[in-house]
Amino acid sequence: MLTSRGCGSGCSFCLVPQIAGDNFRARTSASVVNELEYIKNRYKVDFVTFNDEIFTYDKKRVLDICSGIKQRRIKVPWDCQTRVDLVSKELLQSMKEANCQLINFGVESANQNILNAIGKGTTVQQNAAAIRMAKEAGLSVTVSLVLGYPGESDQTINPYLSAASKNSSQGVTPPPQILTRLIFALRHRCIS
Ligand code: SF4
Repeated sequence: MLTSRGCGSGCSFCLVPQIAGDNFRARTSASVVNELEYIKNRYKVDFVTFNDEIFTYDKKRVLDICSGIKQRRIKVPWDCQTRVDLVSKELLQSMKEANCQLINFGVESANQNILNAIGKGTTVQQNAAAIRMAKEAGLSVTVSLVLGYPGESDQTINPYLSAASKNSSQGVTPPPQILTRLIFALRHRCIS
C-alpha cells in the first residue's frame, strides 16, 4: 500500500525528491485504515508492506492509523520504512500493537563524515537509538546502507559493516542514480 509520497530531505544519492516531489503529501489515517480493512476482507491478504519512502514522516498520522487498526481489530501484519529521526518510543510501541512486524531504517552509514557528505541530516547516535528503540518495542529491524560513497575508505566502511553484522541487518541501495544531486556533482567535477 502507498499512503504518502514525497520527501524534502534531499539526500544526495536519492531520487525520491526528483521522482515523487520534495513536498510530503499523505492520505488521511481514515483512508488508510479503510483500505487496509477492505483488502483484508476482500482479498484475504496475510501481509501488507506500506511502501511509502518515509512512512512516519507525520508521526501523529501514523499514531492515528495505529489507533484505527487496533479499534477495528484489523489483524494484518505489516512493515514499513522510515528515517531514524522520525520515530519515538511511543510511536514504535503503538506500531507494534497495531501488528507492525518489521521496520527498515535508512541508516546509510555508521560514519558521521559520510552521513554529513550525503546530507542525511542524522547522526550515528540517532541511528543506534532508533534501532534500539525499535527492538525494545519488539520489532524486527533492517537497515539500508550506502556503500562506496565518495570519501569512503576502509576506515569508514568497517564500522558500519560490523554494525550491520552485529545488528543482523541487511539492505541494498542501488548505485548513484541519474538526476540525483550526487550525480550532478560528480559530472561537474569530471568536466570542470
Ligand atoms: S533517502 Fe530517504 S530521507 Fe533521504 S531523500 Fe531519499 S527518501 Fe528522503
